[in-house]
Amino acid sequence: MVLSYPTLARLYYSTKYIYPEEMIFLKDMKEETSKIDALKKICEEIKALGKITDEHLAALTALFGSRFLRAWKAVKDGMVKKYVFRPSGRVVWIVVGRERDYLVMPEAMFCTCDDFYYHVMGRKAYICYHLIGQKIAEALGQYDEIEETDDIYDFLINEWKEITA
Ligand SMILES: [Zn+2]
Repeated sequence: MVLSYPTLARLYYSTKYIYPEEMIFLKDMKEETSKIDALKKICEEIKALGKITDEHLAALTALFGSRFLRAWKAVKDGMVKKYVFRPSGRVVWIVVGRERDYLVMPEAMFCTCDDFYYHVMGRKAYICYHLIGQKIAEALGQYDEIEETDDIYDFLINEWKEITA
């Protein structure tokens, strides 16, 4: 008997047919995705208000725990940098870490840190503290803006991209 695609899909997605490991994976994925959605909403509020409130801080701590505390420290310590290349206007976000600088791509939800790399290799939705920090810094407008010329763009990108590989 050949099952049609919708039937197969239904079988696959009915919890009965999902293996336990896969259920945990889907649960983690859902949890992290809803946390990321909550972060985006909070950042919209921060941007609209022009400041971060105690309620925001409490909510973010509840959502991300130590990840948020590290992100918040990075923002307060001025570790989030926005590089704007001229004349192209290309933008690159960097979070300065203890060991090296991390290249963060907020739209792609990508970061060059090991933490991010290992989670993504394990097929997990994940937001590292650099990405959290970048989002909050951008919403607050609390970051250093550095202008560079396009001719050193490739050089800098290569420096920043030198990751664990
Ligand atoms: Zn990171």
